[in-house]
Amino acid sequence: YAAKRGSSGVMVYHEQLDSGSSQTLSLLSDLQRAIGAGELRVFLQPKIALGSGELVGAEALLRWQHPTRGMVPPLDFIPFAEQTGFIRHLTLWVIDEILRISPQLAAQGHALSLAVNLSTRDLMDLELPDKIGERLARFAVPPEALKLEITESAIMDDPQRAESVLARLHAMGLPLSIDDFGTGYSSLAYLKRLPVKELKIDRSFVMHLDREDGDHKIVRSTIDLAHTLGLEVVAEGVENLAIWQVLRGLGCDLAQGYFVSRPLPADQFEAWATAWPQQRERLLGQPEAAL
Ligand code: C2E
Ligand code: MG
Ligand code: MG
Ligand code: MG
Repeated sequence: YAAKRGSSGVMVYHEQLDSGSSQTLSLLSDLQRAIGAGELRVFLQPKIALGSGELVGAEALLRWQHPTRGMVPPLDFIPFAEQTGFIRHLTLWVIDEILRISPQLAAQGHALSLAVNLSTRDLMDLELPDKIGERLARFAVPPEALKLEITESAIMDDPQRAESVLARLHAMGLPLSIDDFGTGYSSLAYLKRLPVKELKIDRSFVMHLDREDGDHKIVRSTIDLAHTLGLEVVAEGVENLAIWQVLRGLGCDLAQGYFVSRPLPADQFEAWATAWPQQRERLLGQPEAAL
């Protein structure tokens, strides 16, 4: 592929770029400009331990505050960034943001596991482990504090190459998490082979858990499977107390979802984390009552 330095100093990869489409080119230059203009924001969504109610981590989710289009959701630009290869810049940018925030939170008493989403393109980059290692050193963040979320479909493109990148990240001490579990292919084969620590059950199985018997069975057996393999389980898409309680009863480890909080602008997260113990009592009642 041809790599070229744009006027912003950002490297742009024109791999598989449909150069015939001027719309593609304009979105790409718009996205390049957005980084420099500070329009991209990292939001954080809390991950809570179902047993203790404690805040244990957060997931970084990218947002684009566009001057004319308003708040652009990730699904409107991440797939595009993946196609053009630009995602690799976005990923490193998100990692830098997270590594800057992590020590600030730790200094305020919130030593959390912060997670960043990786895409296929990231997993194809044999230099990714070195790039991350250099950043961890620069920001003085221990590798255990940076979790990487990967989907099964991101591995599928070139499993051997993805597995070698993941093996190196694992050897460096970064915890790996399988995202959107249950929506991809060959779930069980990858679970066995990859050095993952965490499994996130896709929200499509969680959102109607309290009403759909089929979802309940799938979630219950997924939690059992994960625990048998020694993995921690996160349920995504926990939207209400009923679902929270079912998951707690099933022994699920962590919950993430609108019931606890929507993703928050990173600069509001610290205040949220500090207020969580009171909020927790309001949402869940006294620790005994929550049982
Ligand atoms: P994901 O990694 O599975 O992230 C979880 C998504 O579920 C987020 O959507 C989050 O806002 C949403 N969510 C959380 N709790 C609830 C809930 O209770 N109910 C419902 N209905 N939704 C909930 P979001 O932020 O729109 O992100 C969508 C996807 O875009 C992410 O799915 C991830 O695949 C991708 N994405 C977001 N940020 C990044 C990024 O920085 N890098 C990469 N590669 N992908 C990203
Ligand atoms: Mg994720
Ligand atoms: Mg997910
Ligand atoms: Mg998802």
